[in-house]
Amino acid sequence: MDYISGYDPEVGKGLELELARQRRNLELIASENIVSPAVMLAMGTVPTNKYAEGYPGRRYYGGCEYVDELEILAIERAKKLFGAEHACVQPHSGAQANMAVYQALIQPGDVVMGMNLNHGGHLTHGSPVNQSGKLYHFVPYNVNENGFLDYDEIRAIARECKPKLIVAGASAYPREIRFDLFADIAKEVGAYLFVDMAHIAGLVAAGLHQSPVPYADVVSTTTHKTLRGPRGGLILCKEMYAKQIDKAVFPGTQGGPLEHVIAAKAVCFGEALKPEFRTYQEQIVKNSKALADAMLAEGFDLVSGGTDNHLILVDLRKQNITGKEMQSRLDEVYITVNKNGIPNDPQKPGITSGIRIGTPAVTTRGLRETEMKEIARLIRLAAEDFENRADEIRRSVTEICGRYPIYQ
Ligand code: PLP
Repeated sequence: MDYISGYDPEVGKGLELELARQRRNLELIASENIVSPAVMLAMGTVPTNKYAEGYPGRRYYGGCEYVDELEILAIERAKKLFGAEHACVQPHSGAQANMAVYQALIQPGDVVMGMNLNHGGHLTHGSPVNQSGKLYHFVPYNVNENGFLDYDEIRAIARECKPKLIVAGASAYPREIRFDLFADIAKEVGAYLFVDMAHIAGLVAAGLHQSPVPYADVVSTTTHKTLRGPRGGLILCKEMYAKQIDKAVFPGTQGGPLEHVIAAKAVCFGEALKPEFRTYQEQIVKNSKALADAMLAEGFDLVSGGTDNHLILVDLRKQNITGKEMQSRLDEVYITVNKNGIPNDPQKPGITSGIRIGTPAVTTRGLRETEMKEIARLIRLAAEDFENRADEIRRSVTEICGRYPIYQ
């Protein structure tokens, strides 16, 4: 970073300010994390200079012998980590991985089921503003009035609409997802089961959430959330789909792979294969449960009443404050969250009645259950008496972040 600041002070300044923000703030965005120095450094390495369209041993460019080895290493580690028959490590992002999966398995206009974005699904699971919703005929499923997936209801919708493919997975669902039940439903109606495990991939790798790999035809994930790797995507599948999946990624939806990011994915998978990674994931879940309990004790309502994973969804209607306002107040006191719709939210998507809070990044930082209680108290102060207590909250956040420094 010092080198960049000397070489190009304008860019250097932006990078330094962002580092300072990350050091200063409690990062509670459920889809974010803090990567290891090795993952970080791998991304800034020489394969960024290399074109390698194609796959190891079958490239369209010369000089690929070493990036081939790196990509094979990433593939083998991903397969071992998740017990998968085939892995494609080239998707540039989770969204691109998902578009490639659709391209591989179904045709434009086909009926597909996915979780409603307003109930916790992802844009790429059929939102009308996303390519997925424009190209395919998505039929959404919701959570029930208690905030849980209702598998009988999902089965009834599947029987009715006879989808070619069912997408399971979510961006804002705090409970365990039963992939075995989804597989049973998909089998009954003759649909493919595609699981997007982006949020929970770290928990799956550590054996703390049911793995979709034995149940789904294809599984996608991002590598940068609970998995704690570089920003990017990954697709896992049964051997019988390997060729179609690879073809749908390249040349179907992408050009040259980012081999420097693939090197960083290999480092991340290597880290996730170590025993310490399981301990880390266990602590994410312990922190999440501790935070959920503390938020309830502070008087907040939680969608579904709690959590089984790394995130909680807070319903702020009782506090009479919108998600947008809460996000902005917390920003001012160095706590980073995102506004998030709650099921059947009366507010518009840009305003919302909720916030989503996750523990992966603060757990990487070293925070434990005691700090989760303090965070819940600070969030209550921000909701109740922001004007008078903002300085006090900021001081407390600064003290916690000082005790758990990052990138020293
Ligand atoms: N799938 C799910 C479930 C997600 O939550 C996200 C991102 O938030 C994505 C896919 C998209 O990942 P990316 O932002 O890398 O495109």
